Amino acid sequence: MLGEKILQMLGDEIPQQEYERYIKNLDYDEKASNVDLAVYKAPNPFIATWVKTKYKKRLEKLFALETGIDTEVVIEVQKEKTKRRTKTKSSEPTPSSTSTKINPTYTFENFVVGSSNQFAYTAAMSVAEKPGEHYNPLFIYGGVGLGKTHLLHAIGNYNLKDKTIIYATIEQFMNDFTYHLRNKTIEKFREKYRNCDILLIDDVQFLSGKERTQEEFFHTFNELHTERKQIVLTSDQPPKKIAGLEERLKSRFEWGLIADIQPPELETKIAIIKKKCELNGIHLDDEIVNYLAANMDSNIREIEGVILKLNAYSTLVNQQITMELAKNVLSEQKREEQKNITLKDIVDVVAAELNVKPSEIKSKSRNRQIVSARRIVIYLARTLTPNSMPQLAQFFGMKDHTSVSHAMKKVKEMIEEDENFRLKIDELAHKIRHATKNESE
Ligand code: ADP
Ligand code: MG
Repeated sequence: MLGEKILQMLGDEIPQQEYERYIKNLDYDEKASNVDLAVYKAPNPFIATWVKTKYKKRLEKLFALETGIDTEVVIEVQKEKTKRRTKTKSSEPTPSSTSTKINPTYTFENFVVGSSNQFAYTAAMSVAEKPGEHYNPLFIYGGVGLGKTHLLHAIGNYNLKDKTIIYATIEQFMNDFTYHLRNKTIEKFREKYRNCDILLIDDVQFLSGKERTQEEFFHTFNELHTERKQIVLTSDQPPKKIAGLEERLKSRFEWGLIADIQPPELETKIAIIKKKCELNGIHLDDEIVNYLAANMDSNIREIEGVILKLNAYSTLVNQQITMELAKNVLSEQKREEQKNITLKDIVDVVAAELNVKPSEIKSKSRNRQIVSARRIVIYLARTLTPNSMPQLAQFFGMKDHTSVSHAMKKVKEMIEEDENFRLKIDELAHKIRHATKNESE
């Protein structure tokens, strides 16, 4: 079976002892898995955490290599079965084969509610309870790592048993569309997306500038909406602010309810950390929880990374998670986040995107396009790497840091003034992070 085969493949790459101790103990849960979700059960929280921290990425890569499908790997603890809400309906459910990609751990029960996300949570909940009846579409927006995807999946999980659900990022929708277009099977594509009860589409900001996909999505939307099927969308911006999006889509996205998620306040962060510890079978003293909450950014994905790392460390050296360890892991994490991106990465990505040569960016050319690219590189370098202004001045062979500071000011002004420009900068930052991530894999 595929799930087991992948474990064998991993086994071939890692030390025998690691395989025997951790990987061999995993059970592939065929029932819970599907084409793009692989669920493994670990006998205890420790092994689950260990595998998650060390091998999840690699396992996902192996799945992708083997099947050509992006597969999410989920490691759960055996005895802690995910609680399912008891439904009032008694008729036997007919689960659909298209309800793929729903992560079983992203449930409403596992979502911590605070004032920053209360509104979005309540809206998601009421849509989950009565799909198609309250707000259509529901549009959730907010920054990275604040729980948008989690809520989308929670709606899916809630209805998994008796509704046909499609979850896809807008990028997957687009890939699917182009694939079927190329293979002249567009009818299949339409049949799939237009015959579901709940359509969950993540990160619609990436529709920006994609005209053909927008056109197709417009028709999908209309069809489902007319049939009173529930549509839920997420984005990092409200519809109005998504640049490069057709007006007719913008207005449709505003037809239902728009809910935002704000960064969590300290109290909510603390509660989320406690929840994640509980779910992963990790114990942290209150003092440490408070310290982490106070010193981490609001991106909860990163907070989660730190917790898992802490746990893996402490089990590795077989010691308690102390405040000292927590401080070390946290500062290491912060260093790591930045160190992976080099100035060369930034120059390369920006050069490729803006059609100039990397060497031109580092030259003294006053050509407008090159000057603009150089400024953007400086801005991104300041935001994505720990380089100081004098260090950047040196890198570009500038006299002193005043030119760097001038470039920063210019870019900041443009970001304020021009929504499209801001979007472009965000996209570049995303590409740079992605480029470095892939290299290190
Ligand atoms: P987004 O889609 O907004 O970038 P995600 O939904 O992927 O963010 O959330 C990132 C991580 O943080 C996930 O592991 C998610 O479970 C967790 N998370 C975010 N908000 C909450 C919350 N309120 N309670 C519990 N976990 C949360
Ligand atoms: Mg997301």
